[in-house]
Amino acid sequence: MGIKVTKFGGSSLADEKQFEKVKAIIEADPERRYVVPSAPGKRFSDDIKITDMLYACYDKAKHGEDFEAEFALIEKRYNDIIAGLGLSISLDKEFEEIKIAMKARMGRMYAASRGEYLNGKILAEYLGYEFIDAAEVIFFDENGKYAAEHTEYILSERLKNVERAVIPGFYGISANDTIKTFSRGGSDITGAIVAKAANADLYENWTDVSGFLCADPRIVKNPRPIGVITYRELRELSYMGATVLHEEAIFPVKSAGIPINIRNTNRPEDAGTMIVASVSGHIEEENSNVITGIAGKKNFSVICLEKDRMNEEVGFGRRVLEVLERHKICFEHLPSGIDTMSVVVEDKLIMDCKDELIADLYEETQADSIDIESGIALIAVAGHGMKNMKGTAAKIFTSLAAANINIRMIDQGSSELNIIIGVNNDDFEESIRTIYAAFEGWNA
Ligand code: ASP
Repeated sequence: MGIKVTKFGGSSLADEKQFEKVKAIIEADPERRYVVPSAPGKRFSDDIKITDMLYACYDKAKHGEDFEAEFALIEKRYNDIIAGLGLSISLDKEFEEIKIAMKARMGRMYAASRGEYLNGKILAEYLGYEFIDAAEVIFFDENGKYAAEHTEYILSERLKNVERAVIPGFYGISANDTIKTFSRGGSDITGAIVAKAANADLYENWTDVSGFLCADPRIVKNPRPIGVITYRELRELSYMGATVLHEEAIFPVKSAGIPINIRNTNRPEDAGTMIVASVSGHIEEENSNVITGIAGKKNFSVICLEKDRMNEEVGFGRRVLEVLERHKICFEHLPSGIDTMSVVVEDKLIMDCKDELIADLYEETQADSIDIESGIALIAVAGHGMKNMKGTAAKIFTSLAAANINIRMIDQGSSELNIIIGVNNDDFEESIRTIYAAFEGWNA
């Protein structure tokens, strides 16, 4: 029998009705052996996530303020789920412990992690699965970084003896024995870690949408869903702003070659999006779409350096990047010409050190001119189909020209997997709509 690791997001476990759906999904496939839950999320749009309620309680506790009323609301959410499912467990002991720990200022991360911990207890009871506390199997090192090797060893050994288990998402234990969480949305990462340790055949990430869409639906009306996408394409797109999956969640499963399937708890009949290492085997999808998706982000700056005969100067690029490194600035792209080099960085990273940065760059490189242009939006057009297709770039640029949009920067990686276009912040939305429209119905 194969192994599937299923991760359920906060909205999939927001109340007892959602728990019922989750149970039906898990029981529909005996391979769904390891389950990673988030804390209960929003039941309706103005609702508050348990994680946010816990942060709020902790902030009060830290200032010595009373948080009983707020904590009572958290207890009620869990007790309603327990009662709604007809379970006989009580979390009263845990609630008391958490309140004491909050008063003792056990840490904001500890407080937040209890959302997943308590939800995991309920889910394990409801499914009849073993509960494995993430604090026993997921580790961070002394620098606060996720300790992959140690975790994989301990967790895989532990799972070998457990047929079916619930492992709460979002947290683990740090080198000094305190609870530490990943960044927000981090249960996705836990799911990926468990999938790798279990040597799973598939990592299913159950959420409230049926996978990725080709473009942001707030910008493009009814964008096409993405059936299959490669890890690398997703990196190009998710890093540019898509929000369905935590971007760190790709790495553990990618290295193990485990595909991720994004699924919708409210529409389990939908196939969702498959994230795979390569599209071979998904031929139909490959032939039908030249581009997989369009995504982007506003507020970048382009630092443009010009120097005659730059191409003959050994070490020019290194000197530029060294200055950036000294200022602790990471860069996104490096488009270059024969006598020019541009460095694209986020506006916010250079906002407070612009003059100093320019002065250091002049000193280090003796460039003829250095300009910084801010307020640039970057748009990534990604697609494995591009490689075998002529005219993709022409199509993008012609459509933008026809829409009277000025292109400020172009960068195409040699992998031919994606094209990055820089436009003014104000042209961002229109550019995405224009490119999307250019490719609609365009088949290879
Ligand atoms: N509950 C945490 C959050 O709201 C983690 C997660 O849901 O993945 O960010």
